[in-house]
Amino acid sequence: INFRRAQYLVSAPTLAECPEDSGAEVAFAGRSNAGKSSAINALTDNGKLARTSKTPGRTQLINFFSLGEQQRLVDLPGYGYAKVARSMKDEWQRHLAFYLEQRRCLKGLVLLMDIRQPLKEFDLQMLSWAVTSGLPAHVLLTKADKLKNGPANNARFAVEKALKELELDRGVTVQLFSAPKRKGLEKLEQRLNQWLTL
Ligand code: GDP
Repeated sequence: INFRRAQYLVSAPTLAECPEDSGAEVAFAGRSNAGKSSAINALTDNGKLARTSKTPGRTQLINFFSLGEQQRLVDLPGYGYAKVARSMKDEWQRHLAFYLEQRRCLKGLVLLMDIRQPLKEFDLQMLSWAVTSGLPAHVLLTKADKLKNGPANNARFAVEKALKELELDRGVTVQLFSAPKRKGLEKLEQRLNQWLTL
């Protein structure tokens, strides 16, 4: 799959307004500031595709990008703005859970976490939904360039160990990633290709 051919398709406030549930989709999720827009931009080689500046408090949309006739990338709403009301967070959570559990064309979840603060409550919740739905997940430990190789690899091992202990490791893979250094891009593409061409 040529990820450089990704094109903006549509934004949906709810699952009801998503494109038809057919073909194959992979979704990207992460707490705000985890580096999701940067990763999507690096993957698609398109600096404008996923907006890197987002306004806290605005209605969050699920953004769809087409990769061809039947394949899509999905940018799920970020999460974790302190300023957003609890009720609004709950609302997003419901949409996210529903999307992850009900969307039949969804083949995998890419979950982005800042390597310096992984496995926050939201991350565990997302993984738990994925694992219980039998949806494979791929964790990107982002901003790996902020650490030296040794500590970065240790952080990865620690995450893998924690997921195992929490029984959240079924179908879950973990890798290091850096958007500015384009580190881990090939590995990410391999995983996405696997999911999208099943
Ligand atoms: P999002 O909220 O998850 O979409 O996060 P963004 O992609 O907007 O990134 C949040 C901030 O982290 C921005 O200032 C990015 O430039 C920075 N950032 C994202 N990815 C990386 C990375 O891999 N390495 C470094 N050093 N900074 C990054």
